[in-house]
Amino acid sequence: MSDCFIIGGGVIGLMTALELRESGADVTVVDRGPVGQESSWAGGGILSPIYPWRYSDAISDLANWSQRQYPGLIAKLTASTGIDAELIRSGILNFDSDEITRALPWGHKYKCEINVIDQTEIRNLAPALYSDSFDSGLWIPGIFQVRNPRLVKALGKHLQELGVRIIEGESLTNIRIVNDAVTEVEVGNREFDCRTVVVACGAWTGEVLESILHDRIVKPIRGQMILFDSQPGVLSSVAVAGGNYLIPRADGLTLAGSTVEDVGFNKDTTTEAFAELKSFATGLLPALKKSDIKKHWSGLRPQSITECPIISGVPEIQGLFINSGHFRNGLTLAPGSARLIRNLIEGSDAFMDLALFSLDRTAKV
Ligand SMILES: Cc1cc2nc3c(=O)[nH]c(=O)nc-3n(C[C@H](O)[C@H](O)[C@H](O)COP(=O)(O)OP(=O)(O)OC[C@H]3O[C@@H](n4cnc5c(N)ncnc54)[C@H](O)[C@@H]3O)c2cc1C
Repeated sequence: MSDCFIIGGGVIGLMTALELRESGADVTVVDRGPVGQESSWAGGGILSPIYPWRYSDAISDLANWSQRQYPGLIAKLTASTGIDAELIRSGILNFDSDEITRALPWGHKYKCEINVIDQTEIRNLAPALYSDSFDSGLWIPGIFQVRNPRLVKALGKHLQELGVRIIEGESLTNIRIVNDAVTEVEVGNREFDCRTVVVACGAWTGEVLESILHDRIVKPIRGQMILFDSQPGVLSSVAVAGGNYLIPRADGLTLAGSTVEDVGFNKDTTTEAFAELKSFATGLLPALKKSDIKKHWSGLRPQSITECPIISGVPEIQGLFINSGHFRNGLTLAPGSARLIRNLIEGSDAFMDLALFSLDRTAKV
């Protein structure tokens, strides 16, 4: 018997497993596919919301705490697994100058350096960007990015080294509840005794819990992305304009994203999104016109019914917890969310008010 079953092995489930294992628990992760191959693989890996000032204090505080954990976490994972998840302080260059009035007070409040820069400074920072159409920009130098497919791979390997059991290719079929307490999980056609379950099924969390909560608390929002086979050094910072972004990787690949589409559990890619992302990317960084597009993919972001992550116990059911609904920011918020769910399970003091993310607060009842 495992002390704790984590259902879903995306970045949220894997980091939750790490927190619980490090606290001494015996942990099993169950994923119906290979771990880390859904939204956590499909994302861009920017370790900040692209417009951080648009979010609530709860999300800003959770992001702040999480961002501070990344350097230590990546160093630990690299040392233990040999997988370098490429944590790079590439900063964000934002061209939406109408955001300045909201961005600067937010930066001041959260001690996040944000500089308003003119065209000459933009050219110095990113000479290859087509900056003539921008008089000014916002430069946020302290933001990191991570190579998320490698992050989830490293997390999976590290967890196995720590003795976490990972069951892949099998779905959760039932959570057995007796006298208002979890007693068992059914995975495929096997049954496991357990007293603590954390549901971290990303966009599928609403479906997985629907029969217990009688409501879909999380829904999928599709995001499409394209990848250019570009040259190293052509761009060194993340560039944001009009809701889209470019992310340069260390080996020269450039990601361009992303769409935000409410189309259910449909992961198809579309020719419209391809054209839109290509036009955005080559307009902002004309050098990309000469680069091949290597890949086009989509992922399903988990959006909770109030756009705030749900990091919570299920009221009146002992031993059932939810860590989900991180929408566009799950890679950013994973370390803090994992710590908070550990605090909830242990009943220990937390670095934030746990009530901010509780199901009571977010459920549409
Ligand atoms: C295009 C795009 C760009 C993004 N860019 C960023 C970014 O730059 N920065 C950032 O912070 N965030 C970004 N995100 C958001 C981020 O990727 C997500 O918030 C995050 O990955 C959610 O993690 P998760 O573990 O909750 O979900 P997932 O990674 O989707 O994991 C859920 C897991 O649950 C499993 N599962 C589902 N149902 C069952 C079941 N019944 N039984 C067992 N297992 C099950 C699935 O197989 C899956 O592995 C982006 C997302 C997309 C799509």
